[in-house]
Amino acid sequence: MRITCPHCLERAITRTSKRPVPVFYEVYAQCANPDCGWGGKLHVEFVTTRSPSRRPNPNINIPVEPRARQALLAQLEDE
Ligand SMILES: [Zn+2]
Repeated sequence: MRITCPHCLERAITRTSKRPVPVFYEVYAQCANPDCGWGGKLHVEFVTTRSPSRRPNPNINIPVEPRARQALLAQLEDE
């Protein structure tokens, strides 16, 4: 995933700082443009499931996208 600086749109260098829960990351970003110098934090979160895991972790609950849910239900009906 390429992250660019929100100000100058140059490449930003990222470093994960924390993962307080398995579906959520805090990431520090630093603009690589020395003339800009912006640095900050972003959040990355797994919000929906498009394709279910074949090795599901029972502690993880990421909602299935409505469209993906319809496709899965259709597959079950075909079987
Ligand atoms: Zn910048």
